[in-house]
Amino acid sequence: MTYQAEYIWIDGNEPTAEMRSKTKILADGDEPGIWGFDGSSTNQATGDNSDVVLLPRFQCPDPIRGGNNVLVMCETALPETLEPHPTNTRAAAVAAYDKYKEHEPLFGMEQEYTMLDPVTGWPAGFPEHGYPRPQGPYYCGVGAVKITGRDIVEDHMKLCMAAGLAISGINAEVMPGQWEFQIGPVDTVTVADHIWMARYLMYRLGEKHHLEISLEAKPMPGDWNGAGMHTNFSTKEMRENYDAIIAAAEALGAPGKPEEHLAGYGIGIEERLTGEHETQRFDQFSYGVSDRGASVRIPWQVAQDKKGYIEDRRPNANADPYVVAALMTETVCAALEK
Ligand code: ADP
Ligand code: MN
Ligand code: MN
Ligand code: MN
Repeated sequence: MTYQAEYIWIDGNEPTAEMRSKTKILADGDEPGIWGFDGSSTNQATGDNSDVVLLPRFQCPDPIRGGNNVLVMCETALPETLEPHPTNTRAAAVAAYDKYKEHEPLFGMEQEYTMLDPVTGWPAGFPEHGYPRPQGPYYCGVGAVKITGRDIVEDHMKLCMAAGLAISGINAEVMPGQWEFQIGPVDTVTVADHIWMARYLMYRLGEKHHLEISLEAKPMPGDWNGAGMHTNFSTKEMRENYDAIIAAAEALGAPGKPEEHLAGYGIGIEERLTGEHETQRFDQFSYGVSDRGASVRIPWQVAQDKKGYIEDRRPNANADPYVVAALMTETVCAALEK
């Protein structure tokens, strides 16, 4: 008997990388091994030297195909040396985690996304020739006029659970057609593996429902919220005392750090981080308790308990979770060691 392994990887598309996948049929009992693809078709190689290697790294049940079929998240590597491909961001996340794992970093990422009509590019739930009522009733809303796309969101949540991903919740967002799912709390590498896998499942559902799933940071200009990937982060020390919470927030605001982080927080950061719509401006750094207009929020419960985690509100929905998780692990853990 045989089964299907769907090999998934991140391509070299600019300015934002996209997902690719292809299927391998394997004999029962055989593990998905090293494979490869034509990098000249994914902006990862030239035609005269086109082979890019796929190294299987994270595997879970394939909840779409069911049975004993699997999804396999891969790292891309160079032929012969098997060194990470220049577009491979996972290897650096693994290195950051290995370096600092005694701090036991934990992440919860809130992935926002927008459902778009693939023909008009207009968000699902926007009337054909115009705008819906202003924002207000949509966030966590209930009812036909407020909510579009709940069926696909529910299906997605079930698929993530069946795949064994660390999905921790979903909610409707502030702009119509915008939703969020959360992954976590899990470690630096796992959170990013699971975010990418959950994105993959969402894209697959989008094919079925004829909806474009967009991670664009500011899909609708004007008085409409953008889409982010708030990143909640803690270490063992932060889960034990408040000094470490403050030290972590300060570390993210240290000279040079805001620029370094924003460079890895996704494309279109200036359009989304305007100081409006529950954001701090991209050129300012601040942190505060319960403050959704700050770069970094300390949840009220954390201020009360004097321990817990912080929320970096800056990453865009289109950010690479491997890059975001590696940056936060490096910056905060290095500061805690001082
Ligand atoms: P918000 O109030 O900002 O919408 P959410 O409930 O959407 O927050 O997301 C909070 C995320 O933080 C969840 O994914 C949760 O798993 C995660 N989280 C909870 N505790 C911790 C912790 N100690 N360290 C890191 N992440 C955490
Ligand atoms: Mn949330
Ligand atoms: Mn949100
Ligand atoms: Mn949040």
